Amino acid sequence: MISRVPELSEIQKKEISELFGEYINLDKRERHYYNHDMGALPPLVKKVIGNTDPAAVVKIRTEEDAVKLLKFANNHKIPVVPRAGASSGYGGVIPTKGGIVADVTPLNKIISINPEGQTVVVQSGMIWERLERKLKENGLSVRAIPSSAPSSTVGGWLAQSGAGYGSYEFGWGYESMEKARVVLPTGEIREFSGTELKKLIGTMGTIGIVTEITLKVQKFEERKAVSASFPSASSLKKTVENIRRKNIPLWSISFLNPEWADMKNKAPRKLHYGEVVDKNRPVLPVSYVSTFMYPASRDVSGLKEAIENAGGKILPEEIAKYETDEWFKSMKVKRLGPSFIPAEILVPLEKMDKTFEEIGKKIKLPVLTEGMVINDGYVVLLCFMRHSERSLLFNTAFALSLSILKIAEENGGRAYSSGLFFASKKKSVFGERLAEIESLRKEIDPNGIMNPETLEGKGLLNTAVSMGSSFEPLGRIAGNMSGIGKVSFKDEKEIPAEVAELAYSCSQCGYCVSECDQYYGRGWESQSPRGKWFFIKEYLAGREKLDQRQTNTFLGCTTCQMCDSRCELDMPIEHAWMTMRGKLVEEKKKMTFPPFEIMAASLIKERNIWANYRKDRDKWIPEDIRAKIKDKAEYAYFAGCTASFVENDVAIGAVRMLDDAGVEFTSLLDKEACCGIPMLVAGRWDVFEKIMRMNVSNMKKKGVKTIITSCPACWLMWHTVYPQWAKKLGIEYELEAKHYSEVLVDHLDVLKPKFKQPLDKVVAWHDSCHLGRAGGEIYEPPRELLKAIPGIKFRELEYNRERAHCCGSVVSLIAEPPVAYKLGDIRLQETLDVKADIIAALCPCCIFQFRVAAQENNLNIQAQDLGALVGRSLGYNIPDSTSYTLESWVPFEKMISLMQPENMTDLMVELMPQMMAAMPAPLQAMMKIVKYVPGMDAMMKPMMPVMMPRLMPLVMPKVMPDMLKAVEKRVPMPDYMREQLPDLMPKAMDNLMPNMLPEIIPLLTPRMIEYIKTH
Ligand SMILES: Cc1cc2nc3c(=O)[nH]c(=O)nc-3n(C[C@H](O)[C@H](O)[C@H](O)COP(=O)(O)OP(=O)(O)OC[C@H]3O[C@@H](n4cnc5c(N)ncnc54)[C@H](O)[C@@H]3O)c2cc1C
Ligand code: SF4
Ligand code: SF4
Repeated sequence: MISRVPELSEIQKKEISELFGEYINLDKRERHYYNHDMGALPPLVKKVIGNTDPAAVVKIRTEEDAVKLLKFANNHKIPVVPRAGASSGYGGVIPTKGGIVADVTPLNKIISINPEGQTVVVQSGMIWERLERKLKENGLSVRAIPSSAPSSTVGGWLAQSGAGYGSYEFGWGYESMEKARVVLPTGEIREFSGTELKKLIGTMGTIGIVTEITLKVQKFEERKAVSASFPSASSLKKTVENIRRKNIPLWSISFLNPEWADMKNKAPRKLHYGEVVDKNRPVLPVSYVSTFMYPASRDVSGLKEAIENAGGKILPEEIAKYETDEWFKSMKVKRLGPSFIPAEILVPLEKMDKTFEEIGKKIKLPVLTEGMVINDGYVVLLCFMRHSERSLLFNTAFALSLSILKIAEENGGRAYSSGLFFASKKKSVFGERLAEIESLRKEIDPNGIMNPETLEGKGLLNTAVSMGSSFEPLGRIAGNMSGIGKVSFKDEKEIPAEVAELAYSCSQCGYCVSECDQYYGRGWESQSPRGKWFFIKEYLAGREKLDQRQTNTFLGCTTCQMCDSRCELDMPIEHAWMTMRGKLVEEKKKMTFPPFEIMAASLIKERNIWANYRKDRDKWIPEDIRAKIKDKAEYAYFAGCTASFVENDVAIGAVRMLDDAGVEFTSLLDKEACCGIPMLVAGRWDVFEKIMRMNVSNMKKKGVKTIITSCPACWLMWHTVYPQWAKKLGIEYELEAKHYSEVLVDHLDVLKPKFKQPLDKVVAWHDSCHLGRAGGEIYEPPRELLKAIPGIKFRELEYNRERAHCCGSVVSLIAEPPVAYKLGDIRLQETLDVKADIIAALCPCCIFQFRVAAQENNLNIQAQDLGALVGRSLGYNIPDSTSYTLESWVPFEKMISLMQPENMTDLMVELMPQMMAAMPAPLQAMMKIVKYVPGMDAMMKPMMPVMMPRLMPLVMPKVMPDMLKAVEKRVPMPDYMREQLPDLMPKAMDNLMPNMLPEIIPLLTPRMIEYIKTH
């Protein structure tokens, strides 16, 4: 048997790094995120399994990657664990023997679609939800789909095996799979089809890495659904039997038991900035609720009779609609857990009612059950018992899962899947296939590198499960006495109670992972929302530390709210990270991203983030418009910092349109201040509050009722965030906010006849998060405006409206520009995919990001503002600010780079003579001794972390003039910035130094000692 590999040797690290470059992660802390699947295990089981951190994580982007990895691993006898969506709960992605996790999610392309033959060839990491969307574009649809479709992959379903929606018509998922290409442990590639394919099904990554799958698909057709309630499981069973007998051509039958329906009604509402979003959520009857789905053209006339004859009652259409709209959000009720004890079983339909009856009799905790009917006469029952993994009784309550399994077995059923935990049940799961699978594994994997222990289980765990099965009645007594184990949450360490509760509620399903820009911009689990929740649990359990690196991870969120829209539990995720920003930066005084401190200083001094002069803020206003700006008016146009100082085209376009449409407005002119959002996301809430108070008071003086913005972030502040803060601070706030597109769409009849210049270009539209998904879902007004331009050829991007991908600005630009360039590139590639010449947007920050990203990635795409495009078409000469944008970015990019610990260390080394001279005399004398007394340098090392924080406040003011010169040398600056730096830099450094020093000192100490010794 292969040995455990907790770490790779140095030689192995070098070799594999050469093979995979930036696509391998050897970082110990990052690897920790890959040690589990979606199941929450009781501490006792965790102990038995032991440390499961892998030694490395490798991203598999091509079949060649898989070949390279497996040859390497086989050569060195290192275990390999394939990992896709990690949405399974049978331990298949847990590296129980360490080794290498092979992340196959980058294998996510469609290779070919054959509409006539109704087949599609996909790479194995293709996520079901995306596949279905792509198929729909080609008039096709999948035949069966797991209810984890937003995160699970085609390869994952083949390897794990299961049933899902559509299984009533098309059977188990694998029955719609024709062929699979697999890289075997030796690196050899083999295709499995026909009866051979059966050797692969459900083998959980123990045969090799599946790279490609040929799927049978069907013609797309809209589906209809009927939901019905049933007084008992036998009434539901009778209905399904009626349906089967009468051959009513349904596609899918799924259902909930009364406990689940009850919990679904009680599940917390979806919130957006604290407001309930799903106000019209229908209430389910507390009974068995089943949803029957079928293609619209089918004759299902017998369905009503089949339901009613068995005692069922058809439910209002709104319930059927809600149940199908939410079909992938099956675990929503976990918010009430916060943890779940799962038991997944397969039983014959004829025994379904008896199974429910016995579960009801024997299990004293409420068992929430969801079911799917398969065409082979079996039913999958996914049972959950609410509990808390933080309760000691979680261990004993877990035994009830074995009790449910036993009930299934006594009724002719079995465990749904085998795997690490139920290896002892593999005979009943695999049946006759088991012998063939085991002999294949022996043949192709003599070293046993592929996912060891997954199908064998772990000695002690197997014994425990076998004993638990034998002594099931005893375990059941203990389990039944374990109660629900609800644990209330309180503020703990730096984690506020509400954030901790969400962390434990998170089902780790992964719906939020693949489309979080911070995840796909960086590629590692720690950056995803799922990863952040995992971190919080680990931190609270004392297995992680919350240092600056982790603070940066919480800060590193663009606030795009993609996660909120995808979360199957409807959790307010982005809001939780915002809460953490306040907690960590505002309250605990951890460091924000350094450039934010310069911005904060500039904001306090000049009210803008661009280190420019406030007197120049309104210089962009065309003179004819300035003459028309009212002193007081109902409407005020609010330009924001970037449009005022950098991308004047945005502001000029906006006022030109408003003016042409006959909208009269006032402006704060040079009294306007930044909306404050950068300070909100920086965690500098003290500065945010000051700015907000200033803006609100100035607007009131102008008699304004409605603020019109061009910038979506400004809109979000005025529309949603300011009112909330005003309430909190007791400020009267009677202002409303509109984006100009909302105002102008009502004046299109006035504007349209004024268009003079056609725009003969293909233009793709980018929805900005803060106006769309994360703001007011304002999608159509900007489209209407853009489409009104004569000659324009409008294109939608693949990810549009509420699914639109974030541009990647501003936080990524500030935190790590290369990540922002990558994110911008991804969106620009979408633009190229639809063959557009221009990507249009209405957000100055998005346009800024696209302009910079286009330059960085050498892409010939123009990024243009909606208002500027409309304004030009109305006949105005609106200058293109692309070059100025690129110019303005240079000092920021250089400053961001300078503030990295390594570069700050270089700067300090350059200033060493001045720093030495600025030290108190006795210290200077001591430094000199270092040179002459042997061993003094070694003594200095531990002294530095103590000494430097005390010294810096004394030294910094004295070296500041030289420091400014050194900064200027490194950062080419426009005059206004250079002139202000002496004011801004010291303030920023005062705030940064306490947190920056611990990062700099380890780098600086050896260089300082070296300096002293050589001078
Ligand atoms: C909310 C929710 C709903 C669910 N609904 C269903 C459902 O309706 N039906 C159902 O059957 N399951 C369901 N599941 C369980 C889970 O989603 C499925 O088992 C799914 O198929 C796992 O796919 P994955 O991509 O996440 O694979 P992973 O969890 O990453 O992996 C599963 C196993 O497959 C192996 N594997 C993955 N990719 C490869 C590859 N390319 N080559 C070799 N081995 C590989 C892994 O090693 C592992 O052993 C649900 C889970 C959740 C969280
Ligand atoms: S808000 Fe956007 S960037 Fe932030 S965690 Fe959610 S998906 Fe990721
Ligand atoms: S945050 Fe939501 S979507 Fe993401 S893993 Fe948790 S439950 Fe799933």
